[in-house]
Amino acid sequence: MEEKCSYCKGNLYGKTDGKSYGLYCKTCKKWVYKSEELLKEEEMEIDKEEYEIILIGEGNEKQIERIAQIAGINIYMAGQYLRTEKEIVLYKGNAKETYKNARNITKKGLLYKIEPEYPYEILRKMTDEEKEKITDKIRKTL
Ligand SMILES: [Zn+2]
Repeated sequence: MEEKCSYCKGNLYGKTDGKSYGLYCKTCKKWVYKSEELLKEEEMEIDKEEYEIILIGEGNEKQIERIAQIAGINIYMAGQYLRTEKEIVLYKGNAKETYKNARNITKKGLLYKIEPEYPYEILRKMTDEEKEKITDKIRKTL
């Protein structure tokens, strides 16, 4: 994997465009690496992009409840908090930091988005076997 742009030796940035993921040079406006699969951990080291994790879910009851619970405020205040014109940026950082923070936020059950679009997988997909085990558990309760 190239660590710098092969044309200008500039920094590379993670990029998502539809179903393409890769590393992009903002100076040359060229993809240095492009794939149909999400990027891997190795690419995080090269990626110089700064990502923002932004809270979403205005009007979403579950999100409001979670925020009230986490922040120790009432539902009304949590609703007000989410109803804001300015985006609520929880974290700002490189690909690696974003990965760690986004995983934690996901586990806390909060809804968020990442900008620019994050070309890495936050939570790996469940295998069919894992899904089957959960299906079995659900069936047993029915
Ligand atoms: Zn370049």
